[in-house]
Amino acid sequence: MVVGEVAESLDLLVIGGGPGGYAAALHGARLGRTVTLIEKEHLGGVCLNVGCIPSKALLEVADAAALPGRVADWGVAATTSIDMAQVQNHLQQVVSDLTGGVMQLLSQAGVQVVSGTARFSRPNRVAVEHGDSLSHFEFADVIVATGSRPIDLPDLPVDGQRVVGSAELLFSSELPENLVLVGGGYIGVELATAFAKLGSHVTIVEAEKQLLTGFDKRVARLVARGLEKLGVTLLLNHRAQKLESEGLLVAGPEGSVALPADKICVVVGRRPNSDTVGLREAGVLINSQGLVAVDAQRRAADHIFVIGDLTEGPALAHKATAEAEVAAEVACGGAEVFDPTVIPMIVFSDPQVLSVGVDPSQAKKQGLESFRFPFAASGRARTMGDTEGYVSVVADGAGTVVGVHAVGSHVAELAGEAVLAIEMAATVEDLARTIHAHPTLGESFMEAALGLAGRPVHVSRVSKNEKS
Ligand code: FAD
Repeated sequence: MVVGEVAESLDLLVIGGGPGGYAAALHGARLGRTVTLIEKEHLGGVCLNVGCIPSKALLEVADAAALPGRVADWGVAATTSIDMAQVQNHLQQVVSDLTGGVMQLLSQAGVQVVSGTARFSRPNRVAVEHGDSLSHFEFADVIVATGSRPIDLPDLPVDGQRVVGSAELLFSSELPENLVLVGGGYIGVELATAFAKLGSHVTIVEAEKQLLTGFDKRVARLVARGLEKLGVTLLLNHRAQKLESEGLLVAGPEGSVALPADKICVVVGRRPNSDTVGLREAGVLINSQGLVAVDAQRRAADHIFVIGDLTEGPALAHKATAEAEVAAEVACGGAEVFDPTVIPMIVFSDPQVLSVGVDPSQAKKQGLESFRFPFAASGRARTMGDTEGYVSVVADGAGTVVGVHAVGSHVAELAGEAVLAIEMAATVEDLARTIHAHPTLGESFMEAALGLAGRPVHVSRVSKNEKS
């Protein structure tokens, strides 16, 4: 510390304005604290600016572009053309509507927003850089939510032109003719879905033998089939090596090939921003992946709370937002703990994927029962012209629902019911006897429960344990 350096005293400081940070600031203000939020780029963080929101907006655009192909047999003939400049304007508008809303909420709650990059200089003090100026703040409590950044491949450095990250790809003003996505996790799969529907030739290069590592194999197979139907080339068990004059050199079990690529997007995972904010200097424990050790109350050290992508668990916006409330409550003297039974995971592919709790293959190993209700038997799926996929419900020995997994059109919208059922410890009978509106995809949830209860209606009776 420079002698004579004066630090402003703050009450509750929040670092990072993403879905973790801005929610923590709002809760802190609601609980009567004087809150200051420091954000180095844009309020809304990765999710609103370059992640969840623009990617889903682009997928909607892509669905609209692909509509003529989908409805050709329905007696509707249409053609579409894509104006990428207008698409970009649309995406920017969606983002700015939402980030503007966050700004307004923070302002109405009386949260002071400071622009700048914060770094711990001591456990109770940060230095904030903004342009040429440096300010210092001390705080009573801090909630750190600085999120994560993309992992780079040393031999394929992002240059922002030909080799890009997901943010640059989402906001590129030209549609690439040949797009290679390096990484077949959920971000790679969603981008592949969008760009294939918009008209790019898309290839996914994935080092593992399946897409969506960590998801059920059956799910990964259905998603792979969906991508192939869209014309996406899947190079599983392949590694991107380097860019050569003929294209991107990719190595697989049968040797190397050079893929034509006018755009290469590297989406091989994300790394927590614990180093860049100096959390080690603040005296907290950080593992080799950069994740910060926290207790059930999201406390990393005295008066230091850490949430969102910086901590263990799925790096998802809704996890960050849920942790934000716990951290803010505890910082304000509450006794909350972060102890969700399940955290839903969704892939906005085509078909979409919903994964909550114990999956059917884990269920089999644990001797639990599950029932799969196919959308081919759903009236609503028929009317939508999309009968691919299923809803699968897993129950434990006492008949309590412990898992819901679905693949199919619009299954992301079933997440709420699935999570609520598991959090409320609903039984198979609860679901089976809950009257669901007809015709809706949600009925499939009830139908799977009816199957599990041994009285299926729209599918034939089958023996127990991964039925149908
Ligand atoms: P972030 O959202 O990363 O926010 C951190 C904020 O901190 C940023 O604004 C950053 O500028 C700021 N910051 C960083 N360092 C400093 C510093 N030193 N000083 C001041 N400010 C700092 N999740 C979902 O749940 N659903 C999805 O559909 C989904 N889709 C995604 C699609 C893509 C393409 C990507 C990349 C991510 C997606 N995610 C999705 C993940 C989601 O965006 C993150 O899990 C979520 O944003 C994490 O929230 P956070 O608050 O922890 O951090």
